[in-house]
Formats: sequence, structure tokens, C-alpha cells
Amino acid sequence: MSQKKILLVEDEIAIREMMKFAFFKSDYLLLEAEDAEQAQVMIMNEQPDLILLDWMLPGISGLELAQRLKKHDSSKEIPIIMLTARGEENDRIRGLDAGADDYVTKPFSPRELMARIKAVLRRVAPEQDGILDLGGIRMDTEKHRLFVTGKPFELGPTEYKLLYFFMTHSERVYSRSQLLDRVWGGDVYIEERTVDVHIRRLRKVLTEFNVEHLIQTVRGAGYRFSTE
Ligand code: CA
Repeated sequence: MSQKKILLVEDEIAIREMMKFAFFKSDYLLLEAEDAEQAQVMIMNEQPDLILLDWMLPGISGLELAQRLKKHDSSKEIPIIMLTARGEENDRIRGLDAGADDYVTKPFSPRELMARIKAVLRRVAPEQDGILDLGGIRMDTEKHRLFVTGKPFELGPTEYKLLYFFMTHSERVYSRSQLLDRVWGGDVYIEERTVDVHIRRLRKVLTEFNVEHLIQTVRGAGYRFSTE
């Protein structure tokens, strides 16, 4: 297994030093940037596996950088953990809305952060050698084939893309507009209820194999793929 690259974007030297020490003993390779400009260059050149992003940065804020990264195809799949001094619910929601996968409130222990990194990486990348295996569904992304408990099944192209997105972003709620953005692409104009239509089709197929519970409706929020 190759070493995962974690990019820390943080202007406080004390935190960078602390992390350097913590990462020295870990399986990860730590990359550092002290502001958003440096971070953007690093992201382009290094394609990190995960970004630890400080909310309060000089110049472009962490929140703004997260929004920018999620707009670009080359960076939108990189998971982000926001490091925030703010503990308020509103800010957490803003961070998650901006595309962050998780957040850690300062002050945090390196151990806590390591656990979060591990959890996020596991959640976003259940894919090994082109095979996604989650909740009893197996997706061969190279051959474009699908199986439930060994039985092959087929999906329409949109349902396939939707399921792929869910399987690579499980345990998180996505609103209809977020799903449109991430699965259909941000440039097309499609009504939000289109999402419901395709979710229904996907569920119908999954029902034949008794795994429709994996796609959960979260009232007033959207949908979630969950194996719990
Ligand atoms: Ca800061």
C-alpha cells in the first residue's frame, strides 16, 4: 500500500510543528502549506489524499478555499477536514456545506485528529484495485459490473453514477442540489426532483436484492448511503 499524502494548510507554526511530530510516527506523509495560495500549488502538484484545512487563514479563508476546491474536477474528490476554533453549530454546517467531510475543533489532540483522518479516508475510499465493496454491493469500476452477494445486476447510466457516488461517499447526507452538482455536474440545469426519480429507480433494483435500506431518505435534508 502506498503512503497516503496528507496536506496540512495552517498558518500557525505551533500547530504545524505539533503535526509534524505526530505524523513522523504515522503511516502518512505530511505536506504543509501556510496559506491558500501555497495550498493550491501543492494540491495541483501533489494531489494529496486528504486536506486538513484551517478555517482562519490569512488572505483566502479555509472556508473559501474548500469551496474553490470542490468546484474543480481535479480537486473536488479530495476529502477535507476543517480545523476550526469555532464550535458553533452554524459554522459547522457552513463548513460541511462548503464541502468539508468532517471538522475538528481546536484545540485537538494529534491522536484525535489521526482517528478522524483514518475514518474519513476509509469512508471516501473503499475502492481497492477498481473494486468497491460496501454493504454487500460489489462494484467493479473498471469492467463496469455490479454484484450483490455474488449475483450480477445492471443499472442505467445515471443510477450507476449515483450508486458510485454514494458508495464512495457513504455515511453522509447529501441534499438534492449537492447530488445534482456532484453526480450530474454543476453546469447542467436539472430540476431537483429528477434526483428523486433516479433514486427511486435505483431503489427499485436494490429492492430485488433486499439491500434498498442502504439508500436512506433523510427528511428535510436529502439522501444518505449507509451500511449502519
Ligand atoms: Ca489560523
